[in-house]
Amino acid sequence: MLTINEYRKVESLEEAYELNQKKNNKIIAGGVWMKIGDRRIATAIDLSGLGLDQITETDTEFVIGAMTTLREIEKHAGLAAYTDGAIRESVRHIVGVQFRNCATVGGSIFGRFGFSDVLTVFLAMDTQVELYHAGMVSLKEFIDMPYDNDILVALHVAKKPIRIAYLSQRNTATDFPVVACAVSEYDGSLHVSIGARPVHARLVELPLGSGEPDGFGKQLPEGFEKDEALVKELATWCADQFTYGSNRRAGADYRKHVAGVLIRRAICSLEK
Ligand SMILES: Cc1cc2nc3c(=O)[nH]c(=O)nc-3n(C[C@H](O)[C@H](O)[C@H](O)COP(=O)(O)OP(=O)(O)OC[C@H]3O[C@@H](n4cnc5c(N)ncnc54)[C@H](O)[C@@H]3O)c2cc1C
Repeated sequence: MLTINEYRKVESLEEAYELNQKKNNKIIAGGVWMKIGDRRIATAIDLSGLGLDQITETDTEFVIGAMTTLREIEKHAGLAAYTDGAIRESVRHIVGVQFRNCATVGGSIFGRFGFSDVLTVFLAMDTQVELYHAGMVSLKEFIDMPYDNDILVALHVAKKPIRIAYLSQRNTATDFPVVACAVSEYDGSLHVSIGARPVHARLVELPLGSGEPDGFGKQLPEGFEKDEALVKELATWCADQFTYGSNRRAGADYRKHVAGVLIRRAICSLEK
């Protein structure tokens, strides 16, 4: 059971940060993860009065406030257009609409959960995490940072020409993913993000075009996604770059096989 001794709806990030430095105080966002299991919180710090539940789109970026719900990113027309529906696809399997109306982007990213579809999809884009104390950190760095008492303020997704696809494999609808996969092409590189291995998402990046082949050993010319044999070889190579573990949902070998299949399908779907 979750036991909260005191509740504070803060009026500034500074107030939230100061309160959050005490060991038994906790930021509470959607609260849907926190309420699982036994936990005692001295003071629950509520950020909901700070206007962090907005998605702002400019010419150069999307700024997604930490308190934005998963349902809001699922419905946002600008994000859908920019990602060709990949963000919507990444969250639409998460439990149900009422749940996604509560769970937040900040809670999902700060938690760095192994099963996270949300982390997997944002890792395949040029995403910066805005932290109150540490400032801007790329999501690539953030996934390996220790859990501390900082506050995630917003995600910044740079707008640049991108092709991206998201796929996941689940044993049953709405369960945690067995494998989560996002593949994108931007800045002249292919980015492959695999999550739920079952540990949190990681990224493999490969230069495209006439650049030096990196690891894979073959260049990936324009239109490579139409070459079925090359894509199959590439997808298998990418899947090999990640480590996999077993849990009650799937074994490591199965996860690796599924990752290869999802990577291949996602690359092929970039052809459009
Ligand atoms: C039953 C269930 C099924 C789920 N299935 C999936 C799934 O299939 N795919 C998927 O991707 N996710 C899944 N999730 C995770 C879910 O989508 C959210 O990521 C999770 O609930 C956390 O979001 P929240 O807003 O509820 O955070 P909370 O539970 O409120 O907080 C989570 C943690 O993050 C900290 N925190 C929250 N916001 C901030 C902030 N702004 N700054 C610093 N720290 C912060 C909190 O202190 C806490 O430690 C599932 C969760 C549950 C409970």
